[in-house]
Amino acid sequence: MTDSTLTAQLAGELADIATAGLSRRRRVLDSPAGRLATVDGKQVLNFASNDYLGLAGNGEIAAAMAAGATQWGAGSGASHLVSGHLTPHDQLENEIAAFTGFPRALTFSTGYLANLAVTPTLASRGDAVFADKLNHASLIDAMQLAKANGADVQRYPHNDVAALERLLAASTAARKVIVTDAVFSMDGDLAPLPLIYALAEHYDAWLVIDDAHGFGVLGPHGEGSLAHFNLPASERILLMGTLGKAAGVGGAFVAGSATAIEYLLQKGRSYIFTTAAPPAVACALSKSLQIIRDGDALRANLMARIGQLRDGLAGRALLPSATAIQPYIVGDNEAAVALAKALWERGLWVPAIRPPTVPKGTARLRISVSAAHTADDIDQLITALKELA
Ligand code: PMP
Repeated sequence: MTDSTLTAQLAGELADIATAGLSRRRRVLDSPAGRLATVDGKQVLNFASNDYLGLAGNGEIAAAMAAGATQWGAGSGASHLVSGHLTPHDQLENEIAAFTGFPRALTFSTGYLANLAVTPTLASRGDAVFADKLNHASLIDAMQLAKANGADVQRYPHNDVAALERLLAASTAARKVIVTDAVFSMDGDLAPLPLIYALAEHYDAWLVIDDAHGFGVLGPHGEGSLAHFNLPASERILLMGTLGKAAGVGGAFVAGSATAIEYLLQKGRSYIFTTAAPPAVACALSKSLQIIRDGDALRANLMARIGQLRDGLAGRALLPSATAIQPYIVGDNEAAVALAKALWERGLWVPAIRPPTVPKGTARLRISVSAAHTADDIDQLITALKELA
C-alpha cells in the first residue's frame, strides 16, 4: 500500500463521519476558561465547562501555581517511582487523604489515567468486574484492559441494583469489583451508592467509585459523593476524583486504604509508566483544595443557580438531576446541533451532545452550571431556551 492510499483510507472514514453529521470541532478560547469565554472575537456565557466552582480562573490558585513553578521548576523530570515525586506531590496526597477521610491517596496527571490504573490492577484472570452501562469512557477502557488481563466483565443496566445483585450472586469469581460513576457525566444523576455499597459488603466485593463530577460539589464541604450519602471511607472502596473539574486545575486522585493504595503504586501501569505532573500543578491544587474546603458559599451559590434553572425550565425537557450537570433532551441529532447553534448566536455556549456519547434518540444540550454564574446569566439561558426550543 502506498503512503497516499494509507492516508486516503483515513480520509474516507473522516468523510463518513462528516456525512453522518458527527464531525466534532474544537473552538479556540482566546480568554481564560471562565464564566465568560472569548471565541473568534465574540464573548459568550460559558455553560460548556466542568468548572463547577468557578476555580479555573481563580487568581489565588494561579498565583500558587506561579509561585510553585518559581520554587520547584517547570517539570517533575520523571515518573513518581523514579525521581519525579516532589514535596508538593507528597503534600497534596496527604491533604487529599485527610479531606476525603481515607488513610492514603495517590495523584495522577488525569482522571483518565487514574481510572486506567484501578480496575485492571484489581481485576485479572479469575476475577470479575461489574460495571454500570452508562459509566464514563475511561472506566469502559479500564474495563477492557481488565478483560484483556483475563477478567470476566459484566455490565448491568444503568443504576439497576437488582440486576447487579443477580450478577454478584451468580458469580464465583475470586475477586469481585463493582465499578460505577457516582454522578453520571451525561445525565447528571447519582448512583444509588448506599445500596451498591451494601451489595459490596454482602458479596464481599471491591467498590470503585468515579466521583469526577461529585468531588468539590457534593458533601457538606465538597468532599464528594460518599460524604453526600454519609458512607464510610471503607477499606473496600477506591474513590477516584478528578481535579480538572470543580478543583479547576487538572489531574486526579485515587483514595483508599493504605494497602490498596500501595498496591496501586506498585502495580498500576498508568501510575508507574508516566511522568509525574509538574510540581506547580500540585501547588495549585493544594490551594484549590483549601478553597474547596472553605467553599460553602460557592456551593450554596451553585445549588441556588441549579434550582433557579430547574424552576425556570420546569415542565420542559430537563432530565431529573440535582447536580451541576443539567441535560436538556432534544432527541434528534440535527435539532440538538441547531439549538446549540441558535444559543451560540445569542452569546450562550451550551454544547450539543450526540450519539455515540449518549444513546441514540437522546441528543441533548449538556448545560453545566457553575458557582460563577449569576442569577442574570441563568435567566438569560432560561429565556433563550423558552424562545428557541
Ligand atoms: N470520569 C468521568 C466521569 C469524567 O467525566 C471524566 C472527564 N470527562 C473523567 C473520568 C476523566 O477525567 P480527566 O478529564 O481528568 O482525564
